[in-house]
Amino acid sequence: MATNGYEGELKMIEELTTNAEQIQDEVLGEILSRNAGTEYLRGFLHGQTEKQLFKKNVPIVTYEDLKPYIDRIANGETSDILLAEPITGFFLSSGTSGGQPKLMPVTAEVGNKWDLFRRLYESPVIKHFDDINQAGKRLELMFARPEIETPSGLKAASVSTSIYSGSNFRTSLPKLYTSPVETIFCPDPNQGLYCQLLFGLIQRDEVVKVGSVFASTVLRGIKFLENHWQEVCYDIKTGRLSDWITDSGCRNAASLVMKPNPEQADLIENICNCKSWEGIIRKLWPKARYICCICTGIMRQYTIELEFYCRGLPLVSDLYACSEAICGINLEPLRKPCDVSYTFLPNMAYFEFLPVKNERDGSIEMKSNNEDTELVDLVNVKAGQCYELIVTTCAGLYRYKVGDVLMVSGFYNNAPQFQFVERKNVILSVDQEKTSETDLFKAVTEAKALLDPLRLILTEYTSYVDTSSAPGHYVLFWEIKGKEGKHCKELDPKIMVECCSRMEESLHYTYKIYRKRNIIAALEIRVVKQGSFEALMDYYVSKGTSLSQYKKPSCIKSEEALKILDSRVIGKYFSPKSPL
Ligand code: AMP
Repeated sequence: MATNGYEGELKMIEELTTNAEQIQDEVLGEILSRNAGTEYLRGFLHGQTEKQLFKKNVPIVTYEDLKPYIDRIANGETSDILLAEPITGFFLSSGTSGGQPKLMPVTAEVGNKWDLFRRLYESPVIKHFDDINQAGKRLELMFARPEIETPSGLKAASVSTSIYSGSNFRTSLPKLYTSPVETIFCPDPNQGLYCQLLFGLIQRDEVVKVGSVFASTVLRGIKFLENHWQEVCYDIKTGRLSDWITDSGCRNAASLVMKPNPEQADLIENICNCKSWEGIIRKLWPKARYICCICTGIMRQYTIELEFYCRGLPLVSDLYACSEAICGINLEPLRKPCDVSYTFLPNMAYFEFLPVKNERDGSIEMKSNNEDTELVDLVNVKAGQCYELIVTTCAGLYRYKVGDVLMVSGFYNNAPQFQFVERKNVILSVDQEKTSETDLFKAVTEAKALLDPLRLILTEYTSYVDTSSAPGHYVLFWEIKGKEGKHCKELDPKIMVECCSRMEESLHYTYKIYRKRNIIAALEIRVVKQGSFEALMDYYVSKGTSLSQYKKPSCIKSEEALKILDSRVIGKYFSPKSPL
């Protein structure tokens, strides 16, 4: 972006949010007039394009409903069975939150929308932090995954990989980022990460922004540095790249910029060698103005640890988007992660909202949404109400359930602003009770407060339902670390048992009733050794997930993933009594 060239984008945001209703109607009108003749829509609309007919006849679907059409296209049938515009490839969703990666059709128009989106979501951030593009470089941890070729010859790649492959991005890379392209495309993510951190440290005086797409990747980088900083310093001192970096692209890139720099190495060594890594990001990159990564939704569990490492630097969650559709941007980058709202952009897709009731009325817990409830249009959502997001896109998704639950926090002009609540799935259930991602987050938040006085941090958690013995019970995997230094001291079993109790007390009423009636057995916390969740991430990355888009599952369903955590358990603790 040119100097101060963000005014155009800010003006566009004003126009889009002011005319949200009209733009939504135009977006739907255009999608229907283009695609009413496709095999899929013909079945519901018989060639008609009226909005009312669309609302009445086109069903709300999930990926499973559209999969047969998408698979036919991936296997060589023409894409006009689903959409009129030719498909240029597919986005691969990360698949870690909900199972298998999904294929989402991509067209030239999708590419244009992403290009525009990048400019739009950066503009409020640039407005607040000045034009960082002029001030210096970004140390952004980025990881591309190899593309997959479908039988029809179309390519499938994650959204982030597609962006990194684009010519606009590649042209801007050397000027704006510290990472050479070879480190982003390195087939071994660990070699890529090592080199990206190394290049980021070599250019540390130029770095004005540190980040990645998601908070978990930034933390992965910091933890990796905790284990490798001596080696990195040695490389900077000698001007030679470590031998275990065998990737020729990374080695070539390094040979172009590395030269012995013992003074810089000593400075970094002194910073890293201190007892506590509190504020390390600020110390290592003293000109950094903010940390940019998504810290909402499943990522909110990482904010406390990230705040510890960046001490005082703002954490900016700039966007809300998914492989299915681009949704919203954060107009107030300085808001704390827990207060962040995303303003929806009405030109990106046609958005509808399914009201979600969340009533826990004593003994009966209802988390229902009645599919017959009429969907609400973007401009008609009500502040304070939760909704499930439904999108209709220019790329062949019609009334598609994304699986995200959002809460309306207000409006900017006429466009609603949403806080991310949770993924829709019930994640834990032994019997009739349903425990959501948010329920679990709240209970974990209550319990982990007991670790604070011991100067311990819960760095990672996930869950699963163990039904290997009856009755079944909830299992939480916890990775804990000491604030000073890497390893947590001996855990006090009494405190850990108390954490189990506190979690049970904090769970919802139905859970507690079932516990009392022994329909659910005592909640268990399994403490895993340091690095276990990195091993879990490595496992998902080895299965094809992009490290840039990795989202740790809130609940483990895969046997293999379970084995990874179970084999690293160092302590098991149970709640001693029923919470009621
Ligand atoms: P993927 O399609 O693999 O990129 O995953 C998209 C999903 O990531 C969304 O459906 C959300 O569940 C999650 N996600 C994306 N952006 C955000 C955000 N800003 N806050 C919370 N969750 C997000």
